[in-house]
Amino acid sequence: MKLHVDFGKCEGYANCIIAAPDVFSIDDSNVVIVTDSEPPDDERDAVEEAVRSCPVAALRIEED
Ligand code: SF4
Repeated sequence: MKLHVDFGKCEGYANCIIAAPDVFSIDDSNVVIVTDSEPPDDERDAVEEAVRSCPVAALRIEED
C-alpha cells in the first residue's frame, strides 16, 4: 500500500498521528509529514483509521 497526502488540504488536526504514530508526524507549520509512505501491512488498520479520522479527507491509500 502507498499513501497519498493532499498537503494543500491538511490543516494539522493531527488525528492521523494519533491513529498511526509510526507513519505520520507533523512539522513546525502544522502540516503532516509522512514518515513511511509505503507502510507495511501490519500498519494497515492504523493507516485506515488515520484516513477515516482526517477531518478534511487529506489522506488516501493507493493499493499497489
Ligand atoms: S488528520 Fe488530516 S488534517 Fe490532520 S494532520 Fe493528518 S492529514 Fe492533516
